[in-house]
Amino acid sequence: MPISRDVLFRLVTNERLERAVRSVPPGERLAWKAASRYVAGTTFEDAARVARRLREHGVACAIDRFGELVEDASMARRVADGYLRLAGELTGLPDGTWLAVDLSHLGLDVDPRGCADHLAAIARALPEGRRIQVGAEDTARTDAVLTCVLDVAARDLADRLGATVQANLRRTPSDLDRLLAAGVHIRLVKGAYVEPTARALRYGEPTDVAYLRLAHRLAAADAPFALATHDGVLREALLSALGPVPVEQLFGVRPDVVDDLVAREVPVRVYVPYGDNWFRYLMRRLAESRGS
Ligand SMILES: Cc1cc2nc3c(=O)[nH]c(=O)nc-3n(C[C@H](O)[C@H](O)[C@H](O)COP(=O)(O)OP(=O)(O)OC[C@H]3O[C@@H](n4cnc5c(N)ncnc54)[C@H](O)[C@@H]3O)c2cc1C
Repeated sequence: MPISRDVLFRLVTNERLERAVRSVPPGERLAWKAASRYVAGTTFEDAARVARRLREHGVACAIDRFGELVEDASMARRVADGYLRLAGELTGLPDGTWLAVDLSHLGLDVDPRGCADHLAAIARALPEGRRIQVGAEDTARTDAVLTCVLDVAARDLADRLGATVQANLRRTPSDLDRLLAAGVHIRLVKGAYVEPTARALRYGEPTDVAYLRLAHRLAAADAPFALATHDGVLREALLSALGPVPVEQLFGVRPDVVDDLVAREVPVRVYVPYGDNWFRYLMRRLAESRGS
Protein backbone atom coordinates (compact mmCIF):
# COMPACT_ATOMS: atom_id res chain seq x y z
CA MET A 1 0.00 0.00 0.00
CA PRO A 2 1.46 3.47 -0.86
CA ILE A 3 2.35 5.73 2.08
CA SER A 4 -0.39 8.34 2.54
CA ARG A 5 0.21 12.07 2.24
CA ASP A 6 -0.50 12.59 5.97
CA VAL A 7 1.95 9.89 7.05
CA LEU A 8 4.64 11.35 4.79
CA PHE A 9 4.02 14.82 6.24
CA ARG A 10 4.45 13.43 9.75
CA LEU A 11 7.73 11.84 8.69
CA VAL A 12 8.89 15.30 7.59
CA THR A 13 9.32 16.31 11.22
CA ASN A 14 10.98 13.06 12.17
CA GLU A 15 14.67 13.88 12.65
CA ARG A 16 15.50 10.22 13.28
CA LEU A 17 14.40 9.34 9.76
CA GLU A 18 16.65 12.07 8.31
CA ARG A 19 19.61 10.95 10.41
CA ALA A 20 19.02 7.29 9.46
CA VAL A 21 18.82 8.03 5.74
CA ARG A 22 21.66 10.55 5.57
CA SER A 23 24.08 8.70 7.83
CA VAL A 24 24.77 6.03 5.21
CA PRO A 25 26.32 7.12 1.89
CA PRO A 26 23.88 5.16 -0.35
CA GLY A 27 20.91 6.63 1.58
CA GLU A 28 22.27 10.17 1.28
CA ARG A 29 23.03 9.62 -2.43
CA LEU A 30 19.58 8.25 -3.28
CA ALA A 31 17.80 10.94 -1.26
CA TRP A 32 19.85 13.69 -2.97
CA LYS A 33 19.06 12.19 -6.37
CA ALA A 34 15.34 12.55 -5.56
CA ALA A 35 15.84 16.02 -4.05
CA SER A 36 17.89 17.43 -6.93
CA ARG A 37 14.73 17.65 -9.02
CA TYR A 38 13.37 20.23 -6.55
CA VAL A 39 16.58 21.91 -5.36
CA ALA A 40 18.93 24.21 -7.32
CA GLY A 41 22.00 22.84 -5.50
CA THR A 42 23.85 23.46 -2.28
CA THR A 43 25.38 26.88 -3.04
CA PHE A 44 24.14 30.34 -3.98
CA GLU A 45 25.97 30.02 -7.33
CA ASP A 46 23.77 26.99 -8.10
CA ALA A 47 20.65 29.05 -7.40
CA ALA A 48 21.99 32.01 -9.43
CA ARG A 49 22.62 29.71 -12.40
CA VAL A 50 19.04 28.43 -12.23
CA ALA A 51 17.71 32.00 -11.94
CA ARG A 52 19.57 33.07 -15.10
CA ARG A 53 18.44 29.99 -17.02
CA LEU A 54 14.81 30.53 -16.01
CA ARG A 55 14.98 34.19 -17.03
CA GLU A 56 16.13 33.13 -20.52
CA HIS A 57 12.81 31.26 -20.69
CA GLY A 58 10.86 34.30 -19.50
CA VAL A 59 10.47 33.10 -15.90
CA ALA A 60 11.28 35.08 -12.73
CA CYS A 61 12.29 33.41 -9.50
CA ALA A 62 12.50 33.74 -5.73
CA ILE A 63 15.68 32.33 -4.17
CA ASP A 64 15.56 30.80 -0.71
CA ARG A 65 18.35 29.40 1.42
CA PHE A 66 17.09 26.31 3.26
CA GLY A 67 16.70 26.62 6.97
CA GLU A 68 14.07 26.95 9.66
CA LEU A 69 13.51 26.56 13.39
CA VAL A 70 16.67 28.40 14.50
CA GLU A 71 16.78 28.31 18.31
CA ASP A 72 19.71 30.58 19.02
CA ALA A 73 19.79 34.35 18.51
CA SER A 74 23.44 34.46 17.44
CA MET A 75 22.78 31.80 14.79
CA ALA A 76 19.79 33.89 13.60
CA ARG A 77 22.13 36.89 13.26
CA ARG A 78 24.49 34.82 11.10
CA VAL A 79 21.59 33.70 8.92
CA ALA A 80 20.45 37.32 8.59
CA ASP A 81 24.00 38.37 7.60
CA GLY A 82 23.92 35.70 4.90
CA TYR A 83 20.60 37.07 3.63
CA LEU A 84 22.02 40.61 3.61
CA ARG A 85 24.78 39.34 1.34
CA LEU A 86 22.19 37.64 -0.88
CA ALA A 87 20.24 40.90 -1.11
CA GLY A 88 23.43 42.54 -2.42
CA GLU A 89 24.01 39.70 -4.90
CA LEU A 90 20.59 40.30 -6.48
CA THR A 91 21.97 43.30 -8.40
CA GLY A 92 23.93 40.80 -10.52
CA LEU A 93 20.84 38.70 -11.21
CA PRO A 94 18.00 39.30 -13.66
CA ASP A 95 15.33 41.93 -12.83
CA GLY A 96 12.47 40.29 -11.06
CA THR A 97 14.65 37.94 -9.01
CA TRP A 98 13.35 38.05 -5.43
CA LEU A 99 14.36 36.41 -2.15
CA ALA A 100 12.29 34.11 0.05
CA VAL A 101 12.65 33.24 3.74
CA ASP A 102 10.95 31.41 6.59
CA LEU A 103 11.00 33.64 9.65
CA SER A 104 11.86 30.78 12.02
CA HIS A 105 15.17 30.74 10.12
CA LEU A 106 15.70 34.37 11.22
CA GLY A 107 15.07 33.50 14.87
CA LEU A 108 11.32 34.17 15.15
CA ASP A 109 10.98 31.56 17.92
CA VAL A 110 13.76 32.95 20.14
CA ASP A 111 13.78 36.70 19.44
CA PRO A 112 10.72 37.99 17.54
CA ARG A 113 11.82 41.63 17.80
CA GLY A 114 15.30 40.78 16.51
CA CYS A 115 13.70 38.75 13.73
CA ALA A 116 11.67 41.80 12.62
CA ASP A 117 14.83 43.93 12.67
CA HIS A 118 16.65 41.33 10.54
CA LEU A 119 13.79 41.18 8.04
CA ALA A 120 13.65 44.98 7.84
CA ALA A 121 17.41 45.21 7.26
CA ILE A 122 17.25 42.62 4.47
CA ALA A 123 14.25 44.34 2.85
CA ARG A 124 16.12 47.68 2.93
CA ALA A 125 19.21 46.09 1.35
CA LEU A 126 17.26 44.79 -1.66
CA PRO A 127 17.77 46.50 -5.00
CA GLU A 128 14.87 48.74 -6.09
CA GLY A 129 11.82 46.83 -7.25
CA ARG A 130 12.71 43.52 -5.56
CA ARG A 131 10.94 41.81 -2.67
CA ILE A 132 11.56 39.24 0.03
CA GLN A 133 8.70 36.76 0.30
CA VAL A 134 7.98 35.46 3.79
CA GLY A 135 6.87 31.85 3.97
CA ALA A 136 3.89 30.63 5.99
CA GLU A 137 4.84 28.04 8.62
CA ASP A 138 2.70 25.89 10.94
CA THR A 139 -0.23 27.47 12.81
CA ALA A 140 1.72 27.67 16.08
CA ARG A 141 3.73 30.41 14.36
CA THR A 142 1.02 32.14 12.29
CA ASP A 143 0.42 34.96 14.82
CA ALA A 144 4.13 35.65 15.20
CA VAL A 145 4.73 35.63 11.43
CA LEU A 146 1.80 37.99 10.82
CA THR A 147 2.92 40.37 13.58
CA CYS A 148 6.45 40.46 12.17
CA VAL A 149 5.34 41.10 8.58
CA LEU A 150 2.94 43.87 9.65
CA ASP A 151 5.64 45.45 11.84
CA VAL A 152 8.17 45.50 9.00
CA ALA A 153 5.61 46.67 6.42
CA ALA A 154 4.82 49.61 8.71
CA ARG A 155 8.49 50.67 8.55
CA ASP A 156 7.74 51.95 5.04
CA LEU A 157 8.86 48.63 3.54
CA ALA A 158 5.56 47.16 2.30
CA ASP A 159 6.65 47.45 -1.33
CA ARG A 160 9.68 45.22 -0.56
CA LEU A 161 7.77 42.52 1.27
CA GLY A 162 5.66 39.53 0.38
CA ALA A 163 3.51 37.44 2.72
CA THR A 164 2.19 33.92 2.16
CA VAL A 165 -1.39 33.04 3.04
CA GLN A 166 -2.61 29.47 3.43
CA ALA A 167 -6.09 28.87 2.04
CA ASN A 168 -6.63 25.87 4.33
CA LEU A 169 -6.50 27.91 7.55
CA ARG A 170 -9.83 29.00 9.03
CA ARG A 171 -8.23 32.26 10.24
CA THR A 172 -6.88 33.30 6.84
CA PRO A 173 -9.82 35.53 5.68
CA SER A 174 -9.33 37.84 8.69
CA ASP A 175 -5.52 37.74 8.45
CA LEU A 176 -5.89 38.70 4.82
CA ASP A 177 -7.79 41.89 5.75
CA ARG A 178 -4.78 43.01 7.79
CA LEU A 179 -2.25 42.09 5.10
CA LEU A 180 -4.29 43.88 2.43
CA ALA A 181 -4.41 46.99 4.61
CA ALA A 182 -0.63 46.78 4.98
CA GLY A 183 -0.16 46.67 1.19
CA VAL A 184 2.29 43.76 0.96
CA HIS A 185 2.42 41.31 -1.95
CA ILE A 186 0.42 38.14 -1.26
CA ARG A 187 1.40 34.62 -2.31
CA LEU A 188 -1.72 32.46 -2.08
CA VAL A 189 -1.02 28.77 -1.34
CA LYS A 190 -3.17 25.83 -0.29
CA GLY A 191 -1.06 25.16 2.84
CA ALA A 192 1.62 22.52 3.28
CA TYR A 193 1.20 21.60 6.97
CA VAL A 194 -1.00 18.95 8.53
CA GLU A 195 -3.10 20.96 11.00
CA PRO A 196 -5.89 20.10 13.46
CA THR A 197 -9.40 20.41 11.99
CA ALA A 198 -10.27 23.08 14.55
CA ARG A 199 -7.77 25.33 12.79
CA ALA A 200 -7.75 24.11 9.20
CA LEU A 201 -10.08 22.95 6.46
CA ARG A 202 -9.73 19.47 5.06
CA TYR A 203 -7.33 19.06 2.15
CA GLY A 204 -9.30 18.71 -1.12
CA GLU A 205 -12.59 20.41 -1.91
CA PRO A 206 -12.96 22.62 1.23
CA THR A 207 -9.44 24.01 0.80
CA ASP A 208 -9.91 24.44 -2.95
CA VAL A 209 -13.16 26.40 -2.49
CA ALA A 210 -11.46 28.61 0.12
CA TYR A 211 -8.59 29.16 -2.34
CA LEU A 212 -11.02 30.30 -5.07
CA ARG A 213 -12.78 32.71 -2.72
CA LEU A 214 -9.53 34.21 -1.45
CA ALA A 215 -8.19 34.68 -4.98
CA HIS A 216 -11.37 36.52 -5.97
CA ARG A 217 -11.05 38.73 -2.88
CA LEU A 218 -7.46 39.56 -3.75
CA ALA A 219 -8.42 40.46 -7.29
CA ALA A 220 -11.39 42.58 -6.14
CA ALA A 221 -9.07 44.44 -3.76
CA ASP A 222 -6.66 45.10 -6.65
CA ALA A 223 -3.87 43.76 -4.44
CA PRO A 224 -0.48 42.62 -5.77
CA PHE A 225 -0.74 38.84 -5.55
CA ALA A 226 0.17 35.51 -7.15
CA LEU A 227 -1.55 32.16 -7.43
CA ALA A 228 1.03 29.77 -5.97
CA THR A 229 -0.40 26.41 -6.96
CA HIS A 230 0.23 23.51 -9.31
CA ASP A 231 -3.47 22.62 -9.30
CA GLY A 232 -4.35 23.01 -12.97
CA VAL A 233 -8.12 23.14 -12.44
CA LEU A 234 -7.92 25.89 -9.83
CA ARG A 235 -5.34 27.83 -11.82
CA GLU A 236 -7.20 27.72 -15.12
CA ALA A 237 -10.56 28.55 -13.47
CA LEU A 238 -8.95 31.62 -11.90
CA LEU A 239 -7.01 32.70 -15.00
CA SER A 240 -10.25 32.50 -17.04
CA ALA A 241 -12.10 34.58 -14.47
CA LEU A 242 -9.39 37.11 -13.58
CA GLY A 243 -7.15 37.34 -16.63
CA PRO A 244 -3.37 36.74 -16.65
CA VAL A 245 -2.62 37.15 -12.92
CA PRO A 246 0.87 35.99 -11.90
CA VAL A 247 1.36 32.30 -11.12
CA GLU A 248 4.06 30.86 -8.85
CA GLN A 249 5.37 27.32 -8.87
CA LEU A 250 8.04 25.33 -7.10
CA PHE A 251 11.24 24.48 -8.94
CA GLY A 252 10.99 21.01 -10.46
CA VAL A 253 7.21 20.71 -10.22
CA ARG A 254 5.32 20.62 -13.53
CA PRO A 255 7.93 22.50 -15.64
CA ASP A 256 5.77 21.77 -18.71
CA VAL A 257 3.08 24.00 -17.19
CA VAL A 258 5.60 26.81 -16.71
CA ASP A 259 6.45 26.77 -20.44
CA ASP A 260 2.77 26.77 -21.38
CA LEU A 261 2.01 29.72 -19.09
CA VAL A 262 4.92 31.75 -20.47
CA ALA A 263 3.72 31.07 -24.03
CA ARG A 264 0.32 32.44 -22.96
CA GLU A 265 1.99 35.55 -21.48
CA VAL A 266 1.03 34.72 -17.91
CA PRO A 267 3.76 36.09 -15.58
CA VAL A 268 5.46 33.16 -13.80
CA ARG A 269 7.76 33.06 -10.80
CA VAL A 270 9.47 29.88 -9.62
CA TYR A 271 10.57 29.32 -6.02
CA VAL A 272 14.21 28.19 -6.18
CA PRO A 273 15.67 26.83 -2.93
CA TYR A 274 19.27 25.89 -2.27
CA GLY A 275 21.46 24.75 0.62
CA ASP A 276 22.37 21.68 2.64
CA ASN A 277 19.15 21.29 4.63
CA TRP A 278 17.10 19.90 1.76
CA PHE A 279 15.81 16.69 3.38
CA ARG A 280 12.60 18.03 5.00
CA TYR A 281 11.81 19.95 1.83
CA LEU A 282 12.17 16.76 -0.19
CA MET A 283 9.78 14.91 2.12
CA ARG A 284 7.16 17.67 1.80
CA ARG A 285 7.44 17.60 -1.99
CA LEU A 286 7.21 13.81 -2.11
CA ALA A 287 4.05 13.96 0.01
CA GLU A 288 2.54 16.59 -2.27
CA SER A 289 3.48 14.79 -5.46
CA ARG A 290 0.68 12.37 -4.58
CA GLY A 291 -1.88 15.22 -4.96
CA SER A 292 -5.18 14.96 -3.08
C1 LIG B 1 5.72 29.21 -4.84
C2 LIG B 1 5.15 28.41 -3.71
C3 LIG B 1 5.42 28.79 -2.41
C4 LIG B 1 4.88 28.05 -1.35
N1 LIG B 1 5.09 28.50 -0.06
C5 LIG B 1 4.44 27.87 0.95
C6 LIG B 1 4.50 28.37 2.28
O1 LIG B 1 5.17 29.37 2.55
N2 LIG B 1 3.82 27.72 3.24
C7 LIG B 1 3.05 26.61 2.99
O2 LIG B 1 2.41 26.08 3.90
N3 LIG B 1 2.99 26.11 1.74
C8 LIG B 1 3.66 26.70 0.73
N4 LIG B 1 3.58 26.19 -0.53
C9 LIG B 1 3.06 24.81 -0.72
C10 LIG B 1 1.55 24.79 -0.87
O3 LIG B 1 0.93 25.17 0.32
C11 LIG B 1 1.10 23.37 -1.25
O4 LIG B 1 1.39 22.52 -0.18
C12 LIG B 1 1.75 22.85 -2.51
O5 LIG B 1 1.87 23.84 -3.48
C13 LIG B 1 0.88 21.71 -3.09
O6 LIG B 1 -0.40 22.20 -3.36
P1 LIG B 1 -0.90 22.63 -4.82
O7 LIG B 1 -1.61 23.94 -4.68
O8 LIG B 1 0.20 22.63 -5.78
O9 LIG B 1 -2.03 21.58 -5.16
P2 LIG B 1 -2.03 20.00 -5.13
O10 LIG B 1 -3.47 19.63 -5.24
O11 LIG B 1 -1.27 19.45 -3.98
O12 LIG B 1 -1.26 19.59 -6.43
C14 LIG B 1 -1.80 19.83 -7.73
C15 LIG B 1 -1.13 18.93 -8.70
O13 LIG B 1 0.28 19.19 -8.77
C16 LIG B 1 1.01 17.98 -8.54
N5 LIG B 1 2.09 18.24 -7.62
C17 LIG B 1 2.03 18.97 -6.50
N6 LIG B 1 3.21 18.95 -5.87
C18 LIG B 1 4.01 18.14 -6.61
C19 LIG B 1 5.36 17.68 -6.46
N7 LIG B 1 6.09 18.02 -5.41
N8 LIG B 1 5.87 16.88 -7.42
C20 LIG B 1 5.13 16.50 -8.47
N9 LIG B 1 3.84 16.89 -8.66
C21 LIG B 1 3.29 17.69 -7.74
C22 LIG B 1 0.03 17.03 -7.81
O14 LIG B 1 0.33 15.70 -8.11
C23 LIG B 1 -1.31 17.46 -8.33
O15 LIG B 1 -1.64 16.74 -9.46
C24 LIG B 1 4.09 26.91 -1.61
C25 LIG B 1 3.81 26.55 -2.93
C26 LIG B 1 4.32 27.28 -3.96
C27 LIG B 1 3.99 26.87 -5.37
